[in-house]
Amino acid sequence: MNKLTKLALCAAGLALLALFPVVIPNPYYIHLAETILIYAILLFGLDIVVGYTGQVSLGHAGLFGIGSYATGVLVFKLGLPFWLAMPASIFGAAVFGAILALPALRVTGPYLAMVTLAFGTIVQILINEMSFLTEGPMGIKIHKPSMFGHKLSEVEYYYMVAALMVISLIVVHRILKSNLGRAFEALRDSPIASDCMGVSVYRYKVYAFVISAGFAGLAGSLYAYSEEYISPNTYNFELTILFLLAVIMGGRKTRSGSLIGALIVVMLPSLLSDIELFRKIAVTAAVLGVVGSAIMLAKKRTTVRGVIVPVVATIGLAAFSYKLDNMVDWRLTIFGLMTLFVVYYLQDGIVGFLMSFVGKGRRHVAAVAASGVAPFDHAQGGVQGTTLLRVDQALMQFGGLKALNQVDLNVTQGSVHGLIGPNGSGKSTMMNVLTGIYKPTAGKVEFAGAVISGRTPSEIALGGVARTFQNVQLFGEMTATENVLVGLHNTFQSNVLDVMLQTPRYKREEKAARARAASILEFVGLADLANEEARNLPYGKQRLLEIGRALGLNPRLLLLDEPAAGLTAPDIKELMAIIRKIREHGITIILIEHHMDVVMALSDVVTVLDFGQKIAEGIPSAVQSDPKVIEAYLGGSEETLATAPH
Ligand code: ADP
Ligand code: MG
Repeated sequence: MNKLTKLALCAAGLALLALFPVVIPNPYYIHLAETILIYAILLFGLDIVVGYTGQVSLGHAGLFGIGSYATGVLVFKLGLPFWLAMPASIFGAAVFGAILALPALRVTGPYLAMVTLAFGTIVQILINEMSFLTEGPMGIKIHKPSMFGHKLSEVEYYYMVAALMVISLIVVHRILKSNLGRAFEALRDSPIASDCMGVSVYRYKVYAFVISAGFAGLAGSLYAYSEEYISPNTYNFELTILFLLAVIMGGRKTRSGSLIGALIVVMLPSLLSDIELFRKIAVTAAVLGVVGSAIMLAKKRTTVRGVIVPVVATIGLAAFSYKLDNMVDWRLTIFGLMTLFVVYYLQDGIVGFLMSFVGKGRRHVAAVAASGVAPFDHAQGGVQGTTLLRVDQALMQFGGLKALNQVDLNVTQGSVHGLIGPNGSGKSTMMNVLTGIYKPTAGKVEFAGAVISGRTPSEIALGGVARTFQNVQLFGEMTATENVLVGLHNTFQSNVLDVMLQTPRYKREEKAARARAASILEFVGLADLANEEARNLPYGKQRLLEIGRALGLNPRLLLLDEPAAGLTAPDIKELMAIIRKIREHGITIILIEHHMDVVMALSDVVTVLDFGQKIAEGIPSAVQSDPKVIEAYLGGSEETLATAPH
């Protein structure tokens, strides 16, 4: 989709919002549209947590309720005006979001679901029980907000909600396109790599949750005014499920998906209560299913097997709808079937499905010229030839296994230090100890004169230690440029307000980061693939992209874990040239590699590990002829030194 189409769509959307009450003046429908817009605001926020950071929250109905009740209580008890009650709702929900997120986001998956579910339930019970504040099950009655002494009518309030929806959309969009949004996405795709790029996973998960809660609070406040009556029953478990369903059905990671999702979940109950309407929709779905499948088949986008189930299911549903004479009993069943259908067949939701027809291009960003920006700085501080990294008697124990057994390591500033050994000898474990992913059982690691063992991976990364991974850890759904931009996260000083308001500081930092990213991509030979999603890159290019991303940190020490694994011969040549150039910039390198010719050609010193112990160390030629090393390689495993040139 190009810029012009996008502008046209935005204009059409705005016109639709503005003209809706004029074209359909029926207050019932205006109220319905209002509800859709309010839900959309909540879903924009929920999508940050679900779509971007990939966490499940079952607590959003609770946060929505907190927003509603903050407004309800402040207006009912204190008679506060809306311009105080609304910000209070946003703030209140954000605070509760933080209280929930700080402990909850230490766990993931089903545990997180349980904790957030418990939160939602507790909120509902508290609202019910704290009658002195909330009037309990009786609920609270309030009126539409007043502006300049005039109580807003339904239509006027609709416009207020529409304006706030548009503002929320813009704000969320800005956050998600910024370094913050990239951090959210990165931690979903690879938490380990995020931490090792200096993006603390835990901290950014909490940020995402708190921002998301703020939008839930705003939506809750608007909802209270919209309904003019709130009671605890609204904010129940079903509503939470409905919200999640809306994000998933509409399509995660798009604002249009949230809007469509809101439309569906608001319309669904009325749709399922009208059998005639339901039949028409079921038949339309069946026809669309058949026609859509035919088009997909003709375009060879799918196989007969791929469409058979959805086609049969939609036709079956249409036929079934004529057998029914009341829907009430079947509501939940149909609900469940829809969920299953979406989860199996429309994994990117309705928007994702429609986008697959338009073709991708969603990601088309104008390429930024590298224009003379250095890809990375010359390593700062330290004197060539002094010790940069000292590992002292490192012991790493997994149960009974000593993956590292009292290993000492001395890496001098400016050198390339090879680290070799048969499979399972502890090389990757050493990397993980150095970067803080593992805390050594005993021993210590000193980097640039300070003890770093015990620090978190992101602290160590920001201190100047960057790395790549043996099994590539890219941010798959992000482009090559965005991957490098995550590596450049440390160059941003902007906070969330800078991002929301697009202050000059944020714009300057974003521009500088994009120029550096372009320069880094050029350096690792990926300039042509800048806008390609990382998961679509050939394997060899993925490894080069990982190196580029690591360089974004301006490291003093770069750890490469088998960078040549799986590379073609020409790619290996390119890799070696790149490693040499990095070294020329004064960056110290630890190189783990199975290709002996690569290690021997590049390294100044080689350390050999076997069964977690250091068995040899020295210049490459000496190590290569060491009988203990030959024994280790010829003994336990299939690898040999035969790949070495001499
Ligand atoms: P290398 O990179 O030299 O091939 P590794 O450092 O990956 O070897 O592994 C060294 C040993 O430690 C292996 O036996 C491996 O199974 C074990 N190991 C590594 N990480 C863990 C872990 N998280 N839990 C248990 N064992 C591990
Ligand atoms: Mg390994």
